[in-house]
Amino acid sequence: ITFKELGLQENILTAIEAMGFVTPSPIQEKAIPQILTSETDVIALAQTGTGKTAAFGLPILNNLDLSSQAVQAIILCPTRELCLQISKELESFAAHMKGVSIQAVYGGADISKQIKGLRDNPQIVVGTPGRTMDLIKRKALKINDITWTVLDEADEMLNMGFRDEIDSILETTPDTKQTLLFSATMPNEVRRIASEYMFEPVEIAV
Ligand code: AMP
Repeated sequence: ITFKELGLQENILTAIEAMGFVTPSPIQEKAIPQILTSETDVIALAQTGTGKTAAFGLPILNNLDLSSQAVQAIILCPTRELCLQISKELESFAAHMKGVSIQAVYGGADISKQIKGLRDNPQIVVGTPGRTMDLIKRKALKINDITWTVLDEADEMLNMGFRDEIDSILETTPDTKQTLLFSATMPNEVRRIASEYMFEPVEIAV
């Protein structure tokens, strides 16, 4: 199967081709069409290195509303490094799309710069849970028009002690249309998050 057959738009296909992606990885083949339908929450059991960033990033970019200035996707991940890596990869995927803006927010860095960045109306925010929560509390990050919430490396975020932040972010985003949870393992704490905040999720494993 090809990326085109998964239902992605032409300008995204051009970008991933330039990045050297030829065939979708197994997680991409299963997750992309499912997420593109916009109809269900998705739990994906996937290790790092399986192409999970593209598995959630490509369908989100494909379905992004470019006429809206609101933050439409919040992607939570455990570390600053991963935040930067995800936002960089999403920027490459969006290289041929006009008007896509992505902002990374993470702890241990100047918050005022990140607040300024959020004023430029990014449609996608990639953040660590603590800093993301902080920015929501300060009303610098407005989440009333969120379409997607992604939990990337959910098990790792919980291992690092971000339980309260994750709960509080998920509780303040009641209008999320689609919640996507990616995790290498499914301990009870990850199951609890899924059962509390996700609606009839489709499960994918590779
Ligand atoms: P990830 O699991 O998202 O961290 O991806 C691991 C690495 O594989 C990254 O460097 C991606 O750019 C790359 N990658 C992801 N999907 C594909 C694909 N379908 N073909 C080739 N490379 C890929």
